[in-house]
Amino acid sequence: MRALIYRSPGVVEVGEVPRPALLAPTDAIVKVSLAGICGTDLHVVRGDFPGLVAGAVVGHEFVGEVVEAGSALQRLRVGDPVMSSDFTACGHCRWCDDGDHWHCDQRAFFGTGTAFGPALGGAQAEYVRVPHADTTLGLLPPDCPSEAALLMGDNLATGWVAVERAATAPGDCVVVIGGGAVGQLTALSAQAAAAGIVLVVEPNAQRRAFAEAHGSLAAHPDQAPALVRRLTGGVGAEVVLEAVGGNGPLDLALALARPRARIVSVGAHVAESWAFPVARGFRDELSLGFAIGDGIRLRRRLLRMVTGGTLDPTVVIDARGTLADAPAFYRQLAAQTLLKAVVTL
Ligand SMILES: [Zn+2]
Ligand SMILES: [Zn+2]
Repeated sequence: MRALIYRSPGVVEVGEVPRPALLAPTDAIVKVSLAGICGTDLHVVRGDFPGLVAGAVVGHEFVGEVVEAGSALQRLRVGDPVMSSDFTACGHCRWCDDGDHWHCDQRAFFGTGTAFGPALGGAQAEYVRVPHADTTLGLLPPDCPSEAALLMGDNLATGWVAVERAATAPGDCVVVIGGGAVGQLTALSAQAAAAGIVLVVEPNAQRRAFAEAHGSLAAHPDQAPALVRRLTGGVGAEVVLEAVGGNGPLDLALALARPRARIVSVGAHVAESWAFPVARGFRDELSLGFAIGDGIRLRRRLLRMVTGGTLDPTVVIDARGTLADAPAFYRQLAAQTLLKAVVTL
């Protein structure tokens, strides 16, 4: 089958690899119809994650159709149109019972080497093997566009969980750090949660313009502290959602937060530590949390928002092509000249 293949740090190309086969009775094989390219994939391709071997298939965002179903599957059948979480979960352990699928010890993350569990083949390919398919996959209802379903598996789940974990309340001033696909979907989620003000802080002018065109305010990081003071009567934002990752964005989040602020980071972090001002944290009663989108737990809720018209995540998609276009899309994403690319298989 054709797939996007990792060759070496910085190098991906379209090539032929063996079609995956069922390995466990709880597996399904999905024929991919649409795959997403994500900021996480840029880390993969740069070699930031361990365990990615030359020849591995990249990609973790997809929708498609079940073409082979393991004998133990109870819910899914061959021919079912499906959407997927970007990671797998067993569906019946203590974590899964509580809806905390990310902490399931059966977790594997598609196409990211061994960074988040045992290596699992990626989804920028004609076919992908899906472990624990009854849980990992959801049925794609006919009234949900494929592109929206694709985004629910990762970027929208991530944006929404930031808003949810911060206990965002109607009328809150919400600052989103980062205007990439996840940051923009975080801002749209905050709007859907009835935030009073949503401000996207982003150095890229095109991305600021996108945020402004879709219902948020936008500011360059250098201008953000003064603007937030002006918008909040000098006290700072109730909610700060960090959607970039790294210590600099966390510092900026603190700079924009008011006393008793809730700060939630959904950006990916690789640094081992960060200097947190604990005396201020105590004095100001700050809440700081980290969250990872759970496209399994949030699936039903996000589907309702999309099919009910509250939220259209597909506005972030500004590049559509075929697998042959994927290497160019990777370069453009790295150069931040596009926001979100999807490829049709
Ligand atoms: Zn992703
Ligand atoms: Zn589990």
